[in-house]
Amino acid sequence: MVLEKCNGLSEGEVTRFSQFQGPEVEGLSKNAKKKLNKKLRRAQTKISYLEIRRELRKKKRKITTLKRREALQKGEPVKKKNVIKRMADSMSTQRIVIDLNYENFMSEKERMSLAKQLEFCYSSNRYSAQPFQLYFTSTVDIIVSERFVQTIPYWRSWDVFWKNENFMHLFKSEDLVYLTGDSPNILIDLDPKSVYIIGGLVDHNRHKGLTLRRAESCGIRHACLPIAEHLKLSSSKVLTVDQVFKILVEFQNCNDWLGALLAVVPSRKLLRLNSGDHPTVETEKLA
Ligand code: SAH
Repeated sequence: MVLEKCNGLSEGEVTRFSQFQGPEVEGLSKNAKKKLNKKLRRAQTKISYLEIRRELRKKKRKITTLKRREALQKGEPVKKKNVIKRMADSMSTQRIVIDLNYENFMSEKERMSLAKQLEFCYSSNRYSAQPFQLYFTSTVDIIVSERFVQTIPYWRSWDVFWKNENFMHLFKSEDLVYLTGDSPNILIDLDPKSVYIIGGLVDHNRHKGLTLRRAESCGIRHACLPIAEHLKLSSSKVLTVDQVFKILVEFQNCNDWLGALLAVVPSRKLLRLNSGDHPTVETEKLA
């Protein structure tokens, strides 16, 4: 049950405490009441977050069912559930790069974790209605790593553009946008002409600002996901490679950042929804 997960408070406790009732509350000092209030606010945010996410998923399922029913009535071919599409059959021309040029910045364990995250990215793309044109660049070092091959043995058969070259040699520099949690620029939309790069790096943010510095030294644009515009997180807004990729997949499908973020950001990271009460970023430009 949703409420049981909320900061260890049961549904009854949330209701009782929020009305400041019950023997536990009566004997509390002013300070303890303040603390309890804070805990309650967190619990309630989490409840509304989980409820919104559940509603969004329900809505998505309903739309899919309606679309299928409509197509059946019109005698149109109905798409099977979870149809796996190849990039070549996708209507999406959006190019996404995962830059694997960070071998030396990771421990062996982190490299294995990256391999797992790449697997999640690949799977999100395969199951997407319209897969992105997905590039893994600067792959030379990583694919010779024994651990990498052990972690994802079937990488050779993946429907991904594996490129040994650096992204600067593959695309026009004016088309490139490096996604990095440290950029002051906010991503507003996905531009089909642009190529979005995700740093293939698992470092628990030990190397702060590394991808931003790379973007700056390459002289290309950079941007961060519009997280603060929609959500207040309990920890840093730096996400993992697969989470960022999945958010882009979701955004392409629903064209709604809040929906995309809620579908991916783990509920334990969420403190508050910021939607509606935050200044618009519509006018902000990428660097
Ligand atoms: N210290 C690293 C963090 C790696 S997180 C750094 O310097 O970036 C893995 C990758 O996910 C990042 O390189 C970035 O491309 C992407 N990423 C993580 N959080 C992001 C955010 N909030 N906005 C945009 N991209 C993000």
